[in-house]
Amino acid sequence: MARRIDTYLQHLIPEEKFAFYETVRDFGDREIAPHLLQWERDHQLVPDSCIRAMAELGLFGLPIADQYGGQGGDHTDLVLMGLALGYHSQAVAITPGAAISLGAKPLQLCGTEAQKRAHLPALARGERMFVFGLSEPGRGSDAANPEVTAVRRGNGWVIQGEKCWSTNARWASHVVVHALTAPGAPNGKRSTCFIVPMDQRGVFYQEMKGKKVWEQSSTGSIMFDGVEVADDAILGTENDGFKVMVTTLNGGRLFIASLALASLAFALDKTRVYAEERIQFDDKPIGRFQRVQDVIVDMDIALERGLTWLLHLCRLYEDNQLSREQAAKVKVDCSRAASELILLAMEVCGGVACFDEFGLIRHHNDLFVTRVGEGSNFALKDLIVRPLRGK
Ligand SMILES: Cc1cc2nc3c(=O)[nH]c(=O)nc-3n(C[C@H](O)[C@H](O)[C@H](O)COP(=O)(O)OP(=O)(O)OC[C@H]3O[C@@H](n4cnc5c(N)ncnc54)[C@H](O)[C@@H]3O)c2cc1C
Repeated sequence: MARRIDTYLQHLIPEEKFAFYETVRDFGDREIAPHLLQWERDHQLVPDSCIRAMAELGLFGLPIADQYGGQGGDHTDLVLMGLALGYHSQAVAITPGAAISLGAKPLQLCGTEAQKRAHLPALARGERMFVFGLSEPGRGSDAANPEVTAVRRGNGWVIQGEKCWSTNARWASHVVVHALTAPGAPNGKRSTCFIVPMDQRGVFYQEMKGKKVWEQSSTGSIMFDGVEVADDAILGTENDGFKVMVTTLNGGRLFIASLALASLAFALDKTRVYAEERIQFDDKPIGRFQRVQDVIVDMDIALERGLTWLLHLCRLYEDNQLSREQAAKVKVDCSRAASELILLAMEVCGGVACFDEFGLIRHHNDLFVTRVGEGSNFALKDLIVRPLRGK
């Protein structure tokens, strides 16, 4: 049976974009879906061979300009990749997804020409990966005031402290560190971003153990012990680092919304097929029960609504018209709708939904990340409510 999401995408995006989506979708069917269960049962991160294959397909350079060796695509392409790969596994999709939307993006938005030339070609080829060093053990939602410090010494800086939750840390070549540089300055003007090589003296990485979501994605804690960097490591403007981070997150939140919709699309197909196959009472399928139909229809509505909205916002993003509130709203709504509906989808499928090979439990767990990652939904509502209160 054709994927329901394909029916919608065919009408929402131009032909060449749909052809690109099909290429990535078929890659996921071939290179990811058949191996996923084994990777999960072996508690294995995305294998290097899969990362290489995604790089060969050009996924790491999607929205990087041709002049820097990328594919010259746009944010719609990135979101289509999230929809295509996330259908099987958010954890695999977030690997190139975070490398682009959180790793390369701050460089594209705020880097100097020299920084772009130095890094973007290797990032586009997937030979380097930047990670987004915003969160800390003591600073999650309250990220504007980092505990990691960068103190001036001579012509350079010394960085001290710990970042955590860093997606892709296992494969990272560099980390963009958000550090406190002007403690007495007004809120939002106290920090600076630095590009720090992971093999620099004083940088230590450890994988965070015990995570039961995005299981194939690397999530690391990165320590900085007296790490020395020069002025040219600054990304953006001194004491304006928070702006670099929050501007990056606008695009990242659109990608997280695509992952939520990808999981929803999988759950919808799985449930509607199962409901026609599962026979209970009078030799007839459970799909005849109105309550079962109700769940399937609600998933279908949420998917079409989310896709239409998200692809519209991607176009606004490309035209520099996307507001922080719009990016936050679509992330909040898609993640909430998908994570609430998947529980009902599991209930429709009954006991079989408990098994890893059925797939729903993986998407259920991963959908939790879409609620808290890149700004928890509760915290984002603080942002969304401001214009409603005339602020
Ligand atoms: C798998 C995964 C990958 C991640 N990858 C990265 C990454 O690559 N780089 C990175 O920097 N970070 C990353 N993060 C961190 C993520 O962005 C944070 O988890 C998120 O910002 C929330 O921070 P916290 O978990 O510390 O929650 P806290 O800030 O402790 O908040 C806990 C809860 O308190 C409530 N709350 C907090 N503040 C408010 C508020 N203002 N209004 C209302 N309620 C509030 C909310 O319910 C919130 O969910 C990742 C997280 C996960 C789970």
